[in-house]
Amino acid sequence: MSTNLWNQPGVPHKGYHSLGVTDLEAATHVCDMCGKEEIRYVHHLVHPEHGHKDVGCVCAEKLTNDYVTHKEQLKEAVAATGKKERWLSKTWKETDDYVVKKTHTYSAKAVKIAPGHWQGQILQPFEYNFKTANRYAAMSMLDQAVRNYKINIT
Ligand SMILES: [Zn+2]
Repeated sequence: MSTNLWNQPGVPHKGYHSLGVTDLEAATHVCDMCGKEEIRYVHHLVHPEHGHKDVGCVCAEKLTNDYVTHKEQLKEAVAATGKKERWLSKTWKETDDYVVKKTHTYSAKAVKIAPGHWQGQILQPFEYNFKTANRYAAMSMLDQAVRNYKINIT
């Protein structure tokens, strides 16, 4: 059971900086600060003397005393998830020797380099290379890589 650090002496209530927001795509994380909110959008905060905290938007705004940036970051996280969903719902173009899928945001392909040997690759918006045995493994690994891709707002 998480505790409410707002009531705990020695835990600073201000002076945190935001490192960005991650969409967990389900409300699975309990706020590190209040121990109450179950959060889907995790705000990553850091304090110079008190380390790192993953908190909900209400605590994030109070701890940074910033009521603007978090809303902007949240909007970007929501938009990034929308782009992933569009990418995942789009079908692969398949030929005997390669598979490819592209959107405005993501670009991925896998090429047969020999029977039983496929090379997968993502170049945009991050780099990822691997080898696998067949096209279906390659397509699944590429979809998974995009699904797990964390936006990093700096
Ligand atoms: Zn909280």
